[in-house]
Amino acid sequence: MHQLLIRQLQQHLGQEAVPEGPWQPLMEAVDRHYATIDQAQLLLRGVMDASPDLICFKSAGGVYQGCNTAFAAHLGLSESALVGKSDVDIAIEETAAAVRALDEQALHLAAGEQHFSERWSGDLHGNQVCIETLRTPYFDVTGRLLGLIAIGRDVTERRLAAQTLQRQANMDGLTELPNRRFFAERLAHELKLAQRSKLSLALMVIGLDKFKEVNELLGHDVGDALLVQVARRIQDVVRETDVAARLGGDEFAVVTPNLHDITDVERIAQNIIRRLAEPFSVLGETVQISASVGIALYPINAKEQEDLLKNASQAMFFAKSSGRNRFSHYMFALQEAATHRTRLTRDLRRAMDVKQFEVYYQPIIDLRTGLVRKAEALLRWNHDGRGQIMPKEFIPLAEDNGAIVEIGDWVFREAAQQVKAMRASFHPDFGISVNASPVQFRSSRASVTNWFAILAELDLPGDSITLELTEGVLLKAEEFGSAKLQAFRDAGFQVAIDDFGTGYSSLSYLKRFDVDFLKIDHSFVRDLETDPGDKVLCEAIIVMAHKLGLKVVAEGIETPAQLALLTEAGCDYAQGFLFAKPVPASALLHTLQQLR
Ligand code: C2E
Ligand code: MG
Ligand code: MG
Repeated sequence: MHQLLIRQLQQHLGQEAVPEGPWQPLMEAVDRHYATIDQAQLLLRGVMDASPDLICFKSAGGVYQGCNTAFAAHLGLSESALVGKSDVDIAIEETAAAVRALDEQALHLAAGEQHFSERWSGDLHGNQVCIETLRTPYFDVTGRLLGLIAIGRDVTERRLAAQTLQRQANMDGLTELPNRRFFAERLAHELKLAQRSKLSLALMVIGLDKFKEVNELLGHDVGDALLVQVARRIQDVVRETDVAARLGGDEFAVVTPNLHDITDVERIAQNIIRRLAEPFSVLGETVQISASVGIALYPINAKEQEDLLKNASQAMFFAKSSGRNRFSHYMFALQEAATHRTRLTRDLRRAMDVKQFEVYYQPIIDLRTGLVRKAEALLRWNHDGRGQIMPKEFIPLAEDNGAIVEIGDWVFREAAQQVKAMRASFHPDFGISVNASPVQFRSSRASVTNWFAILAELDLPGDSITLELTEGVLLKAEEFGSAKLQAFRDAGFQVAIDDFGTGYSSLSYLKRFDVDFLKIDHSFVRDLETDPGDKVLCEAIIVMAHKLGLKVVAEGIETPAQLALLTEAGCDYAQGFLFAKPVPASALLHTLQQLR
């Protein structure tokens, strides 16, 4: 650089060499000055080339003025080939325009300010790379804008890792469909769009029929592989704009936005059902399943996301219960459920007359002695068209229309006769528990008082019967007629609180009404082995009951482990499939003898 200056000086002076004399000290100073600048430039170059970042500087007009070796290598050009060129000379038009736009933004910044950007583009080898770039303008000492410095960094790996993480958080690991969480996000988004566009949207919930059997029969590997294939088939069938997801287990969902015609969803649902009914070939096994699909529509069936999901699920269960391998609309499911209820209520009225009710009995085991001296009477309805109907389905209807009073009296009479028979044939202390509904106490018909007469008729003492009441009955005793309750106590009936822990779990009434037994609801027993909270709760109920002088019956014991935990906790009685399922009267004696 300073050589140039000397040459200019020489030309200026018209001389070949700089003359000795007064110039000499000046020239030496200039020499030293430029030597320092050279040094600084070497240093700068060294630092730049040592950096793995991609560094370049350009004029304000976008002409490259220099770069480091990393940048040159990235472009596959030498620095000298680059200098003097602009992006339009070295990149495709689209890239050049994008880079120029970013440069422009940086050139408008004040000294010291920085501009960040991130771009994906193809590298020399055709791979997509993500470059994060920091741009800053630079100025001369007078503050005039000279150009910009850009420092780029390849963040491809970091971005890919972040994408993988995101995918893991959003995708179901097995089927690679969106998971329930991400699906909820997408659904929320689609609902917002639907609201804005005033178009309908359909949500389908797909439940596989008989998947559990496949899993149990052929193993989880086959089950998993099957789910992957199911996911693929569902995705094949839905439109590109639809969102398919796995909600968990054997449940999938599809959102169909921009719905112009309801038959569109039905067609998709039908296609899904058809495709999933075709045989699968999974790990060398041929597997045949089917699917039940529930459809709920926005905004007709529900406006809120949660309701929409709930309704679609309900419709799916309806499709399952009406024969599987079909779809059902929520609207239709609702209507059906209503007519179903009306029909059942109607049938209920004549069920007594045509003798469709039957009482089953489930043994209750004394854990201290291992002996069976009790059973619970559980009602069944042998419907002519629908087979056996369980009490959960018809007791509420019977309560609503008051039929429970008559039915309850009949159950009581059956149970009393059974006590009489078992006392004669099995053990003289045998007793039976009878479930009583609050409605039976509220009734103005003095129904329950007939019960004393029934016992007297059969010459049975009051303590041969235990009344099972829910917490609500005792809690609202005034309303239900505490006098009637007291009359039962006076007659020697024993009282058990059924489903303890699911309701109010208030303790004061236990003392007030002198309850004999607490029945721990089977929902607590079910998860005893897995849920430490339930274990603590059962233990606490038992300790508390014993303090109050009550005995504890655990319901729904199905496994030896549950039995062991409850025995250890000091539970007094046990009832559950582990010992015996509820059996018809004709099988009771035999069942009791098997158990002792
Ligand atoms: P609950 O009184 O709590 O009866 C226990 C229920 O648990 C019975 O159901 C019984 O079959 C079931 N169970 C017993 N052991 C097991 C087990 O190991 N695992 C499982 N998962 N379940 C078990 P069920 O017979 O369907 O009765 C349901 C409910 O209907 C009864 O619950 C009771 O509240 C009511 N109910 C039954 N019969 C009558 C009745 O004559 N009158 C009234 N008012 N209600 C009744
Ligand atoms: Mg009960
Ligand atoms: Mg119960």
